[in-house]
Amino acid sequence: FMSGVNEIRSTFLNYFGNNNHQIVDSGPLVPRNDPTLMFTNAGMVQFKNVFTGLEPRDYSRAVTSQKCVRAGGKHNDLDNVGYTARHHTFFEMLGNFSFGDYFKEDAIELSWNLITKEFGLPQDKLLVTVYHEDDEAFDLWKKIAGLSDDKIIRIPTSDNFWSMGETGPCGPCSEIFYDHGDHIWGGPPGSPEEDGDRFIEIWNLVFMQYEQLSKDERIDLPKPSIDTGMGLERIAAVLQGTHDNYQTDLFRALIQNSVDLTGREEEGDAAASHRVIADHLRSTSFLIADGVLPSSEGRGYVLRRIMRRAMRHARLLGAQDPVIYKMVPTLVREMGQAFPELGRAEALITETLKLEEARFGKTLSRGLQLLDDATDGMGDGDSLDGETAFKLYDTYGFPLDLTQDALRARSINVDTDGFDVAMERQKAEARANWSGSGEAATDAVWFDLKEKAGSTEFLGYETEKAEGAVM
Ligand code: ATP
Ligand code: MG
Ligand code: MG
Ligand code: MG
Repeated sequence: FMSGVNEIRSTFLNYFGNNNHQIVDSGPLVPRNDPTLMFTNAGMVQFKNVFTGLEPRDYSRAVTSQKCVRAGGKHNDLDNVGYTARHHTFFEMLGNFSFGDYFKEDAIELSWNLITKEFGLPQDKLLVTVYHEDDEAFDLWKKIAGLSDDKIIRIPTSDNFWSMGETGPCGPCSEIFYDHGDHIWGGPPGSPEEDGDRFIEIWNLVFMQYEQLSKDERIDLPKPSIDTGMGLERIAAVLQGTHDNYQTDLFRALIQNSVDLTGREEEGDAAASHRVIADHLRSTSFLIADGVLPSSEGRGYVLRRIMRRAMRHARLLGAQDPVIYKMVPTLVREMGQAFPELGRAEALITETLKLEEARFGKTLSRGLQLLDDATDGMGDGDSLDGETAFKLYDTYGFPLDLTQDALRARSINVDTDGFDVAMERQKAEARANWSGSGEAATDAVWFDLKEKAGSTEFLGYETEKAEGAVM
């Protein structure tokens, strides 16, 4: 079995469609009616109320390829991107769901048949984990897949126990791993080296069998359910014979585009920068298509952080002028068929990127210069003071995580406590200055505006002017 990402997605959807699952569109990245969640981060998000029985549907089995973003919020993989072979900020989670219909046995059988028969993965490269108390799952893997005991690893941690929240549905999970071979660093799940890229988790099966009523009261669900998630990019890597998501057809197209536009080959540090740009282009574009725009707070600020991180990497590759917006057509070509909203929003995505690139491009060079000067002579384990990190944030529009990312290659830390202190002090100073005016109502309006527009726009402008700089 060898095919592109688009065919793999279809194969998954059709396989479960042929097994009586309703094929359902991906939900939006900004979850409807769920202010507790920054972005949709799993396939089950759009079905939350179906699982709890609050919302009826006319089907009891479903299959989706769900757009997910894991940046900001509880699941944050932003810092992994560019450094592991398997993490993205935006990815697609393939999932099959049973709402009180089939349970553990069918879930295991359906998944095993898909990966070994349809996809043809060799059994000896596969291993699974189960929750340590879940003998039922252990026995089913033996019976259905014929896996030997040493290929079914019992995990005692919360990694293998899923819950929706403090109360509500929960249950053990079972994860399927692929062994990419001993030429890659990493150890099996549960071992100290598990974070390497040799054994990669491809699929997580969640067995929702309990309901947590209170802190110490848990009952069996009368009709247990199934929720699964498989990273499309990870299974594509396996099927295309690589351990590295960034070597799959879709990412090759994006990275090649980045190479062409910047004129920099994928060598050394440049390789990581190309990856970050390709990844961040996807999350940026899909977030904008789903209605998020860069701003200084909440979801919009997460988007801005992602965009600015990508821009720093473009600068590292030598791009002096806006360039990432030029990659949008390649993305639309690669993914627009599966996600028509991308094509519909193409103009908005392009304009938003171009504007943000032009805007941040002006302060980026000077901020980087300041950062260079401030860390001159520093090395492994040294720390950038919080004042400077704050100045970069406040005057040059560097989100804290961008500064951290910029220093990571040299193993320099940032004094984040010092950063917080500087931030607090500035807020207090601003408050004190304004209370002198004696106009409480104006104060309130000003603070409101400042929160909305962000300190960069206000104080940054003043500071720049004071220094006589050209913006
Ligand atoms: P990992 O341990 O590798 O970080 P996870 O356990 O956090 O993965 P789950 O929450 O179980 O991931 O999500 C289900 C599936 O989604 C995973 O098995 C994986 O295939 C995929 N996945 C999760 N996070 C990412 C990501 N950041 N980028 C790409 N795919 C991901
Ligand atoms: Mg994770
Ligand atoms: Mg995991
Ligand atoms: Mg998992």
